[in-house]
Amino acid sequence: MIEAHKLLLTLTVAVLGMGSAAAADFTTVVIDAGHGGHDLGAAESKVYEKHINLDVCRRLERTLRENGLKVVMVRSKDNFVTLSERASIANKYRKSIFVSIHFNHSWKNTVSGIETYYYGSQGGKLARYVQDDLIEGVEAVDRGVKKASFAVLRRTHAPACLVEGGFVSNAIERDAMMEGKRRQIIADSIAKGILNYKNR
Ligand SMILES: [Zn+2]
Repeated sequence: MIEAHKLLLTLTVAVLGMGSAAAADFTTVVIDAGHGGHDLGAAESKVYEKHINLDVCRRLERTLRENGLKVVMVRSKDNFVTLSERASIANKYRKSIFVSIHFNHSWKNTVSGIETYYYGSQGGKLARYVQDDLIEGVEAVDRGVKKASFAVLRRTHAPACLVEGGFVSNAIERDAMMEGKRRQIIADSIAKGILNYKNR
């Protein structure tokens, strides 16, 4: 009996342990459109990263709401928000994750592809799901998941990742990101990654 009791306890602990690790417990997604206002972000041939970021975020907002998640937009218009303001908005929400959307720039215009950054370990898991679904959904070079000490990732308490959805400096990716269809695929792929992280 004693041995059986011990076994049962061990099993219960194992199942509970699995349960808490299996599902990410969040109800709110804080969406952070990079740059804004006087801060254009990457800029090339009159294409400004700040506009692309915001449009992808609006599409992501819609898809996540349709899937039953609450959404907080760090900015929903073309205004400047400091990095510490972004982090403090994010840190107001419990049971949340933080997803920052950017597009990239390189002095080498042949460089292209998508990469996702994180800082903490939960953010790393989230970044992995988001990057995998982006690479599945978008025709682009997989630049991988990378750890970086970006202020918005470091200062947010919730699991956080930052997507670089393509290069403004690359003519092919720049043309693609100017199309609503491409921005919708990017947004839906990020949403899919978020939902896969939630239901893992
Ligand atoms: Zn940026």
